[in-house]
Amino acid sequence: MFKTFDDLAERQLTGSTLDREDALAVLAANDDQVLDVVAAAARLRRAHFGDRVKVNYLVNLKSGLCPEDCGYCSQRLGSTAGVLQYSWLSPQDVVAQASAGIRGGASRVCLVASGRGPGSRDIDRVAGVVDELKSAHPGVEVCACLGLLKEGQAERLSEAGVDAYNHNLNTSEDRYADICSTHTFADRVDTVERAKRAGLSPCSGLIVGMGESDDELVDAVFSLRELESDSIPINFLMPFDGTPLAGTWLLNPLRCLRILAMARFACPAAEIRMAGGREMHLRSLQPLALHLANSLFLGDYLTSEGQAAKADLDMIADAGFRVLGTDEAHAGARVPVAVRQRGAGTVAAPNA
Ligand code: SF4
Repeated sequence: MFKTFDDLAERQLTGSTLDREDALAVLAANDDQVLDVVAAAARLRRAHFGDRVKVNYLVNLKSGLCPEDCGYCSQRLGSTAGVLQYSWLSPQDVVAQASAGIRGGASRVCLVASGRGPGSRDIDRVAGVVDELKSAHPGVEVCACLGLLKEGQAERLSEAGVDAYNHNLNTSEDRYADICSTHTFADRVDTVERAKRAGLSPCSGLIVGMGESDDELVDAVFSLRELESDSIPINFLMPFDGTPLAGTWLLNPLRCLRILAMARFACPAAEIRMAGGREMHLRSLQPLALHLANSLFLGDYLTSEGQAAKADLDMIADAGFRVLGTDEAHAGARVPVAVRQRGAGTVAAPNA
């Protein structure tokens, strides 16, 4: 067991592997210790990624109407969340959407499609999109997220120029049956392994706030470490009305920071992404999370709106970070002074 969080960081910097007891201690830090936890884990983030934030941009190629029953998902079988439902976007639409994200600073575009997994024609379709996207933006990285992969599909994506494949483990093996009955944790691991064997960079992460215990959270993070996931998106449950997890509010900003810190201590060199739900759960502490995570999604998510993309870029600049792949620091926000016209000395209601 470590003496201080800084000692723990020192150990990780010299190549130690986080054990369960220490991971649980990070999750159990008192509220008044959270700044120490962040400062210590931030040393690992800085050591591996300096002041850079990787900006990723999501394009939902095909939305809703999924036959799977993942309990957290607004696109699941039987969802009444009222999210957009559409079939495959045209390659031109995808390139137009992705180009907006790239202009906003994204160095990776994540092409996502709802469903259990792609058919052969879907792989061809995505290959065509990747070809057009990379012709328009030669330096961009493409991550595909198309569900469970069958024999040979990862290789075809790799040949088509896809750089990475995302398939989240979402939660621990023990809890998996509680969140989904139509596929298993082992199915998910199998797809990540297929992607790795085909030379795709593995991207696999979590959704936290679904009722998991600290032990289960540690199990899930250690599974990702075992899988050697290059990037680890950490999503904070967005409890959509019309899904089984509607009304599940189990997170608060300090808890989110502890979770991100534990993931950083466990996987110091992985790209850890503060992903969906950061606005609603980290709230005003989002900038502190940038000292733990080195990556985020710009703007909107698959089926929900994020904060304005400009607010994301302002936040990165205000916290002293720079977008990966850009040389110039973003100027940050300029908020004009608003002369008070309410409260004392006026007849307008006070701001209280
Ligand atoms: S397989 Fe994907 S799109 Fe379908 S319900 Fe599960 S998470 Fe949602």
